[in-house]
Amino acid sequence: MNWARSISEVVEVPDLGDTPAAVNRKTGVVYINARLKGQLTKDQWFFILLHEQGHLVLQTTDEKAVDAWAFDEYVKRGYKLSESVYALTKVLNFSTPEHFERAENQLKRAQQYDNKISKFSGMSDNKAVHVAQIALAGSILAVLFMPKITGKGGFGMGVVYWVLGGLIFGTLGTLIFKDFNQTS
Ligand SMILES: [Zn+2]
Repeated sequence: MNWARSISEVVEVPDLGDTPAAVNRKTGVVYINARLKGQLTKDQWFFILLHEQGHLVLQTTDEKAVDAWAFDEYVKRGYKLSESVYALTKVLNFSTPEHFERAENQLKRAQQYDNKISKFSGMSDNKAVHVAQIALAGSILAVLFMPKITGKGGFGMGVVYWVLGGLIFGTLGTLIFKDFNQTS
């Protein structure tokens, strides 16, 4: 038979015990624990629904794999990482070592994601603006002075000087502000 690939219906039930939600992988029906409804925010419930959806998409009972899938989906949609960690710790009752591991994995995912973002942006906005200003100044200086130094001018050479000046000074600026970054 064909098992459900996504959530078909969300049904509230009076009490599911400790767990906030459960999914029937055959029908795709998600059961929400009405008793815990007020204990989680909308964003946290959304993470829990994504987790249940993960069981259907991945067709697995592997909780760790589902957590990882739900985390990626959650982040893609722009939700807060802290909410994903909090939501998961609410789902777990820490009765088994696996629960501790799942919470730790979620925290690690959030940290890794944070690191990726800060590496991508590299530095704070302020510092990035300073680097851009230094690169621009470098370009202008190169266009003004390089023809005098090399004896070669013209529009084509001007473009070359502009790019080179920007690259060299931009790199210098990046190095300078990277150091500041590391000490802060
Ligand atoms: Zn699950």
